[in-house]
Amino acid sequence: MNIVLFGGPGAGKDSIAKFLAEDFGLVHVSSGDIFRKHIAEQTEIGKSVKAYIDQGNLVPDELTIAIVMDRLAQDDCANGFILDGFPRTVAQASAFLKQKPIDAIVHISVDEETVVARLSGRYKCTTCHEPHNKLWHKGIECSKCGGPLSQRDDDREEIVRKRFNDYKETETAMLDFYKSLLVKVLPVESKLVDPPKSMYSRFLDDHVKSLNYIAATSKAKSKDVKK
Ligand code: ADP
Ligand code: ZN
Repeated sequence: MNIVLFGGPGAGKDSIAKFLAEDFGLVHVSSGDIFRKHIAEQTEIGKSVKAYIDQGNLVPDELTIAIVMDRLAQDDCANGFILDGFPRTVAQASAFLKQKPIDAIVHISVDEETVVARLSGRYKCTTCHEPHNKLWHKGIECSKCGGPLSQRDDDREEIVRKRFNDYKETETAMLDFYKSLLVKVLPVESKLVDPPKSMYSRFLDDHVKSLNYIAATSKAKSKDVKK
C-alpha cells in the first residue's frame, strides 16, 4: 500500500513514518532527507536546494517532483511506500497522483506553540538517523546505537515559525484536494507532551482496522498488525 503523511513541520511525521514502515513493510521516503543527503554530499542538486532549505523556503515544485518521482521509481518502492514531506503543494499533489496510486493520507494536526517547543528540542543521531527529542530523551547520545546527536540548521525558532505558517497556508487546500479525489484521510492529533510511540499508539487505536483493510486489499505484501 502507498501512504502519504501530511502535517506541519515538527508534527511527528518522521516518527510515525518509521513505525508504519516497520509494521506494514513499507519503504520510508522523505523528501527532506533526500535533499539533506544531496547537501551533505555536495551534489549539483544539493547546491541548488541548500539556500531554499536554510531559509525555510520550499524547494521549487518542478525540481522537487522530479527528485521524489525518481526515488519512487526505484524497485524497492514497488511493494509500497510511505511518503513523508511530499507532496506539500497542490501542484506537487496533482503531478504525483497522475503517476502513482495512493491508498490513504495520514493527516497529523499540530499547533504552532507545540511545534516551536518541540523543534527546539529535536535532534537526530548522526550515525543511525534515529530521531530524538530533549523533551523526553535526556541523554546526549543516541538511545539506539550510542552515536552523537545533532540538530538541524533550519530548526531555529524564527525559521520554524515561518515553515509552520507556510504550511498552514496550504493545509486546507491540500485536504480539499484529496477529498475531491475521494482519497481516504486518517487524522491524528500531535500533542506537546506526546512521545512518538504514544501518538502512534493513539493513531493505531483509531485507524488500525482501516489500515489492515487497505493493506489486505492493496497488492502490496504486508503483515496484519494487531493492536
Ligand atoms: P519539516 O517537515 O520538519 O519542515 P522536511 O525535512 O520535510 O522538514 O523538509 C525540510 C525542508 O526541505 C523544507 O523546509 C523545504 O525547504 C524542503 N522540502 C522538503 N520537502 C519539500 C517539498 N515536498 N517541497 C518543497 N520543499 C520541500
Ligand atoms: Zn543512533
